[in-house]
Amino acid sequence: MSIKSELAALNMELNASAARLVAVSKTHPASAIEQAYAAGQRIFGESTAQELVDKYEKLPKDIEWHFIGHLQSNKAKYIAPFVHLIHAVDSEKLLQTIHKEGLKNNRIINCLLQVHLAREDSKFGLTEPALRAWLETGSWKSYTHARICGLMTIATNTENETILHQEFATLQALFDELKQKYFGEDAHFCELSMGMSADYPLALQHGATLVRVGSRIFGYRDYQKV
Ligand SMILES: *Cc1c(COP(=O)(O)O)cnc(C)c1O
Repeated sequence: MSIKSELAALNMELNASAARLVAVSKTHPASAIEQAYAAGQRIFGESTAQELVDKYEKLPKDIEWHFIGHLQSNKAKYIAPFVHLIHAVDSEKLLQTIHKEGLKNNRIINCLLQVHLAREDSKFGLTEPALRAWLETGSWKSYTHARICGLMTIATNTENETILHQEFATLQALFDELKQKYFGEDAHFCELSMGMSADYPLALQHGATLVRVGSRIFGYRDYQKV
């Protein structure tokens, strides 16, 4: 199937929910993004700062760029002027850095906190206890230019649907709990970023508002090329 027809099929599936599609274009050339753009897609996700900046400079300015990878603090300055949402903030230090870059650029940068739920050691993210303990300190409230808009997770890489349901349900419950405790008055706290090509239908069942889908749209990724 073509990029255009994959997008059409995906949008049909997403239509029934309130979720938006982040087309994950990492490792794919600008020409692939242009095809998706021509088919109406406007939200794209990248996971390295360099690639994101290169593509931002080349491509139409009404694209909403999401940074979905692990962001090193020293790279935040490159994407701060234009990034729409940073999905994977997993430390206070990174949130603080993003806040400082927001101040310098005179804009508020939207962020999600990454929660580690997967049964794999290699994944980044805050554990549930660490996240609860941090939010309870209230220190995040002083980072006025890094706005916490919700939660993100990468589920375990498995075909076991029981595990996937469990992880997505856990993130949804945690979102509800934190919203009630800390963000009740804040309409910006509204995003649950979960679900990728292999598992987004399950994530949608648990209230995902942003699904991050790459290979299903753009095909196989060749990391040698980047
Ligand atoms: C690459 C990536 C995706 C997309 O993965 P696919 O399996 O190709 O859909 C989603 N989220 C994150 C954080 C990624 O790094």
